[in-house]
Amino acid sequence: MRVTILGASSGIGRPAHTTSFLLGNSTLIDCGTGVGTLDVAQLLQIERVLLSHSHLDHCGFLPLLADVHAGHAGPGVTVYSQQETLDALKQHLFNGVIWPDYTVTPSAESPYVRLKAIEVGDTIGLPDGMATALPAQHSIPAVGWLVEGDWRALAFSGDTGPCPAFWQWIAQVPSLSDVLCEITYDDDHLPQARRYGHLAPSLLAPLLDPLPPAVHLWVSHLDPGEEPRMMQHIRDILPPHLLVEQLKVGVTIEL
Ligand SMILES: [Zn+2]
Ligand SMILES: [Zn+2]
Repeated sequence: MRVTILGASSGIGRPAHTTSFLLGNSTLIDCGTGVGTLDVAQLLQIERVLLSHSHLDHCGFLPLLADVHAGHAGPGVTVYSQQETLDALKQHLFNGVIWPDYTVTPSAESPYVRLKAIEVGDTIGLPDGMATALPAQHSIPAVGWLVEGDWRALAFSGDTGPCPAFWQWIAQVPSLSDVLCEITYDDDHLPQARRYGHLAPSLLAPLLDPLPPAVHLWVSHLDPGEEPRMMQHIRDILPPHLLVEQLKVGVTIEL
């Protein structure tokens, strides 16, 4: 399974886009502005969205994706996330005011957006593998995702502060090759990181001990324009043996 990064930033500003990863051709993790770089034919192939949480940088393009399916007689998309997240989508996005309620359009029995509640530990079958919801610790309910292909596995932290359960979980996955982890703040902003449920390098460093040494750590959720300074700062603080890279638009990972 090929994972293609469409967006991995906390905000916009060319060339950055907010979080959206394409798994194969038919599955998205999160639906931030990155998904807007796909063409219509690609958008119509998307059948499911594994959604980490309801913040706009992760779900904001879901209404527009639904619109493409509605406008081109597409199959519609199934959104998998926690019940609280699905309730927020229904209340604040698909409410008939911000956007049409595609969760009951064209019919309640067969809508363009199908909401499926999952809990941490639930597994979803994909065409070339499977995905499992992982624990996260954010300012609102949130999950990460483990994606297992034929050969390798990738873990995505979602938006999260320090969450030891996430790192203990993924350390038990023998095929784990890549971890996509958010770092939103630098170490000069630890109070903000704690308040808003995000990571800073010194909050992440102690959690990395259980990871196998060859795992590739990709840093996501950086602020556009701050990437070079932040990557230098992160490399200065994380253990030197770690393979650390910036996750950005265009990166592909084969699982
Ligand atoms: Zn975010
Ligand atoms: Zn968030």
